[in-house]
Amino acid sequence: MSPTKRTPMMVQPVSDPPAAITPEIDKNAACPDLAARSIAYYSMEIALSPALPTYSGGLGMLAGDTLRSAADTAAPMVAISLAHRRGYFRQMLDADGQQTEADVPWSPEATLPSAGKTVTVTIQGRPLKVTAWRFDVVGAVGHIIPVFLLDTDVEGNDAWDRHLTDHLYGGDTYYRLCQEAVLGIAGTALLHELGCTPQVYHMNEGHAALLTLELLREQTASRKLTDATDADAEVVRQKCVFTTHTPVPAGHDQFGLDQAKAILGDVRAGTIERFGCLHNGLLNMTYLALKFSRYVNGVAMQHGKVSQEMFPDYTIHSITNGVHAATWTSHALQELLDKEIPAWRHDNQYFRSVYGIEPARISNCHHLGKQRLFKLVEERTGHQFDPKILTLGFARRVATYKRASLLLQDPKRLLKIAKKIGGLQILYAGKAHPADTAGKGLIKDVVEVAQKLNSSALRILYLENYDWELGAQLTQGVDVWVNTPRRPYEASGTSGMKAALNGVPSLSILDGWWIEGCAEDVTGWAIDDADNEAAEAQNLYDKLENCIAPLYQRPNAWARMQQSCIAMNGTFFNTHRMLSQYFANAYFPQTPMAELELAGEAEPVLAV
Ligand SMILES: *Cc1c(COP(=O)(O)O)cnc(C)c1O
Repeated sequence: MSPTKRTPMMVQPVSDPPAAITPEIDKNAACPDLAARSIAYYSMEIALSPALPTYSGGLGMLAGDTLRSAADTAAPMVAISLAHRRGYFRQMLDADGQQTEADVPWSPEATLPSAGKTVTVTIQGRPLKVTAWRFDVVGAVGHIIPVFLLDTDVEGNDAWDRHLTDHLYGGDTYYRLCQEAVLGIAGTALLHELGCTPQVYHMNEGHAALLTLELLREQTASRKLTDATDADAEVVRQKCVFTTHTPVPAGHDQFGLDQAKAILGDVRAGTIERFGCLHNGLLNMTYLALKFSRYVNGVAMQHGKVSQEMFPDYTIHSITNGVHAATWTSHALQELLDKEIPAWRHDNQYFRSVYGIEPARISNCHHLGKQRLFKLVEERTGHQFDPKILTLGFARRVATYKRASLLLQDPKRLLKIAKKIGGLQILYAGKAHPADTAGKGLIKDVVEVAQKLNSSALRILYLENYDWELGAQLTQGVDVWVNTPRRPYEASGTSGMKAALNGVPSLSILDGWWIEGCAEDVTGWAIDDADNEAAEAQNLYDKLENCIAPLYQRPNAWARMQQSCIAMNGTFFNTHRMLSQYFANAYFPQTPMAELELAGEAEPVLAV
């Protein structure tokens, strides 16, 4: 298995890809009226188009899917991120699975309309000019969510500062804090300069937490930031909503106070300190966001609970993530849905009606996706996979807790199963962060075991450069989606939701979204909890051998399972539902009836 270096892939699709996936960009398109936009959504990364390298993984996909649903449902939103002129990296793997990286440079000025405004903020004790490029997310019936991608590559800026918005998750903590200052402080200043005065500021992860300082500065405009009172802070708090995304401690950015002073200046750093936002003497972006938000949530039921234990002084709610259905369902399935339940595009509740569609028709759509995926595999690697054979997919950012190699824990047993069930194919993909030596080692381990195991019964490939397009094809084309995180570190996970929407069941640890999505033998299978990895791996093999393979031999039963995945999980694990929950609970919370009664003049009457 030596992947050839032939990217980007030009594959003849079995059926045409959805036309809307890369919207045609009109550089002269007018910007929608920003004064009417009441919600500002901030994210360090946003996956806007497969052609733009402005995202790294799950967080950016979620942000993009959120905005795509906002556009479809005509939400009054606007979004802020960075331009990332040099993108997130393209991954290359050699025959041994050694990862190397290449920048993905792009030119926002050649691609997107300008925001037409520049703001100047003081960061690192010197003026920094920040401008932006506008990407319009266009919804199913034409509503637009404008996304402003901030850019410091402006004439007159310090030479080093001009590269501040180049690299997504690149550089050291100094570079990162500068970027977060651009996102939160300059982003907010620019929004206001553009005539946008949102009622709600939604921080997608702590990266944007410095926006609270900028709001506090505006709140005290006639006085000085050093005079900000608790009442001022409360005004800011009433505007802010914060979503935390990971129980992994390293996922919560923190910075030394000296660094904070050097970058933000003594006044801002002093304000953070005075309002009790330091944690263990450090500027911790999660704590800053917690302190200044009236609503905080985790991204699945369990993640909310885990976060509540991590941050006992704050109330943490849960809103379970979703995916944008029209972005992730295969073209063939979209055609079928358009024919049978056309309202699904703006109202994903109609996915339940998939129970009224003949299972074999759904199975057919999936089969086309599988053929298309295998065509891509052959183009990329020269290896032929057989569409008749049970195929597992495992693709995610490489991190220790995700345990990519659990599936390969007992190679002998895996091979034995493969022979017994008439063959097994496994597709892997995933990037390790360039600085993550351990993660890169994990990829090599998987590749090494795969090379040893590859035989006529068992085929394993590690595909390079896991990105939007590969993610879409994998979740549309494999038969079973595998996820084996170490509990409780998977906050939600969304790739399994993409799979479910395409009729692909999951085989996963009961963590993140799968706790809510798993109906055993109906939407997939749970890997039973054990206190050691070997036992969990054996349970995984048991399910594969005794539940999954026998069902796969019964096409009608398998098709009913595919139908259930869409009808049950597609109906819930989508961003239309997720966004409506943000509206009802976070953005403009509805007051429960009980509270209305208690707040009324009359005492509640007790029936005697
Ligand atoms: C969906 C997606 C992710 C996030 O999926 P997880 O299940 O959270 O790992 C990451 N990267 C890409 C390219 C995706 O499409």
